[in-house]
Amino acid sequence: MAEEKRMPNVMQRNLLAAVADVLGENGLKAVLNVAGLQRFIDNPLPNDMELGVTFADYGMTQQAVEDVVGPKGAKMMLTRIGRATFRYALEERPAVLGLVGVALKALPTGARMKVVLASLARAATKDVHQPTDIEEHDDHFLFVVDECPCRWRGKKDKPVCFVTVGVLHGALHWATGKRFNIEEVSCIAMGDTACRYRIDKEPLEG
Ligand SMILES: [Zn+2]
Repeated sequence: MAEEKRMPNVMQRNLLAAVADVLGENGLKAVLNVAGLQRFIDNPLPNDMELGVTFADYGMTQQAVEDVVGPKGAKMMLTRIGRATFRYALEERPAVLGLVGVALKALPTGARMKVVLASLARAATKDVHQPTDIEEHDDHFLFVVDECPCRWRGKKDKPVCFVTVGVLHGALHWATGKRFNIEEVSCIAMGDTACRYRIDKEPLEG
């Protein structure tokens, strides 16, 4: 059953830590109340790969951030939360990101991008049960996610997966020291078949 689709505890744990980072502890409480996820208040999730949370939990948490901060601030806040989520994942359980033992030092920027995106896609598919692929084009990559917690956020008329955008920003900056333009160009919450993220190969200035 779709509502029962599950993901590892560590995913939600890192997301909630990131929400607390960006919105403060009281902000996190407000978000969990709005999401109907009071069971996570003052009750940290274990740092493990047990399938203790649902895609719905993860999606409702993001939706509640949008509800709490309002539509205007949501994009920026959720992107910041995504970057922080990447930091926590990298510090606490890098295996989840598939980035353990990835050797990047000798590689040029484009190759680094590809290695990191492929690692994230593999880890998402295998450990998070989000089937994910990358496509390489002349001037950009597409990061294509076939199942996403945004499915549980209600019907949208614009892409909403800014946490993933933030995670991709964090991962690519970690891997290359550079910043890139990243845009979600189709979204399951809009009725599309996948959430697709377009990542320009050319870094942004500065
Ligand atoms: Zn999406």
